[in-house]
Amino acid sequence: MRLPEDEMRILVLGGTTEASRLAKALASRSDFEPTLSLAGRTHDPAAQPIPTRIGGFGGAEGLADWLREHRIEALIDATHPFAAQISRNAAEAALATGTPIVAFVRPAWMREAGDDWREVADLDEAAAAIGAAPRRVLLTTGRLGLGHFATAPQHHYVIRTIDPPDAGDLASLPDHTLIFDRGPFDLESERGLLARERIEVVVTKNSGGAATRPKIVAAREVGLPVVIVQPPRRPDVPQVHSVEAVFAMLEPWRRG
Ligand code: NAP
Repeated sequence: MRLPEDEMRILVLGGTTEASRLAKALASRSDFEPTLSLAGRTHDPAAQPIPTRIGGFGGAEGLADWLREHRIEALIDATHPFAAQISRNAAEAALATGTPIVAFVRPAWMREAGDDWREVADLDEAAAAIGAAPRRVLLTTGRLGLGHFATAPQHHYVIRTIDPPDAGDLASLPDHTLIFDRGPFDLESERGLLARERIEVVVTKNSGGAATRPKIVAAREVGLPVVIVQPPRRPDVPQVHSVEAVFAMLEPWRRG
């Protein structure tokens, strides 16, 4: 029989499909005491099978305090590839507290034959890359970055988000259609969306993973350009790409 002190206390920084998959795997293990942390951006987050806390920590220092207070033995950064601040904070807090850290990340999508990608570094560049002439744009970069497209109000934006965007951001994009939906998306429905909305350009982050990739395939099939924002640089911490690899990293860190 395991004693409570045999349970490894871990903190999973989440908000992604990867974190949810890890949470599911952790729920079936009796040798971990996990906590999942969400930023609180999504109004109605999917139910999680392990204890969950919601909201910021107050920067790297706040996170370091939380790690100390809860005697966390390992930190898993399973946040989105574009959530650069929390990943920096995690790396800093791990270093400050001597907590082992591993990043559970999905590899970015790779350009394939037939893709017409315009790779850009950020949302401002993405807005400019759509071009001067008015276009019908499928915009899937998330509701929080919509303000960046105010510099290109001439386009018709088909905006797909999980939660409703801010009214102010929408007012700066006068010609738009809203679609509220949460992945995973399948190829058939993405083909249908591009055709129905007569999309001429797809704008997306290069988020990697299977859940939102079908729009890339659908755009390739009909030769549409994709303005694609490349992910920011990650901090220098070990990276893995599967739940199994996370568990393999954690085992040697278990305190005796
Ligand atoms: P961010 O810019 O990297 O982080 C901003 C602040 O939000 C952090 O400094 C932290 O606040 C708080 N935060 C972020 N993730 C957190 C977490 N898992 N637990 C507790 N606090 C967190 O993050 P973001 O890009 O806004 O993303 C927020 C969340 O949405 C993340 O969990 C991410 O995985 C998820 N997400 C992001 C994207 C995207 O495109 N960026 C897409 C899908 C999902 P304090 O400094 O106060 O601790």
